[in-house]
Amino acid sequence: MECFIRNFIYVYRSKKCITNHWREIFDPAAQIFLNSNVMYKDSNETDNYICNIPKPQLIDEELRDKLRSPRKYQNKVFERDGYKCRYCGIRLISQEFIKLFIKNLDSPIFQKGATNLSVHGIIINTWPVADHVFPWNMGGQTNLENLVSSCGSCNYGKDGYTCEQLGIEDPLLRKPILDKWDGLLSRINELKRV
Ligand SMILES: [Zn+2]
Repeated sequence: MECFIRNFIYVYRSKKCITNHWREIFDPAAQIFLNSNVMYKDSNETDNYICNIPKPQLIDEELRDKLRSPRKYQNKVFERDGYKCRYCGIRLISQEFIKLFIKNLDSPIFQKGATNLSVHGIIINTWPVADHVFPWNMGGQTNLENLVSSCGSCNYGKDGYTCEQLGIEDPLLRKPILDKWDGLLSRINELKRV
């Protein structure tokens, strides 16, 4: 079993606690990837930490794709991938829907703030991100061939590593699972009437 852990920042404060907890619940032999520069804030441990995986080898900046942000392609990527995370398969909700929902709900709790701790956990897990499968700073291109839809957990957990380095399957080798799920795009008009 492989897992990325990032969002446990809301509950747990030590990597030992998280690792043990995860193994108790799910799989004693689980290969745990902890990746956080937020989780250990309280103990001044701010370095990223991934079990036994060396730091990614970055390439010179001038060799990287001039376009880093996937924004130009992201909606096409989400639609192609049926609004599901290509790593873990979780359903994602369109950014437009979430923004409108936040506005309508008008709750101090359900917010997408500027910091990790001010983003509601549900939003972290459902907000779609277009992720570079082969990391941009290792030479990955910002285009439809190298971007996949990702949930926040997988995006954060994968960080700047390749699938090979993490020992996970390349999501581009699997076709997107398309069904009726559309990231709630078809329900946006209902929210607009609220
Ligand atoms: Zn995911």
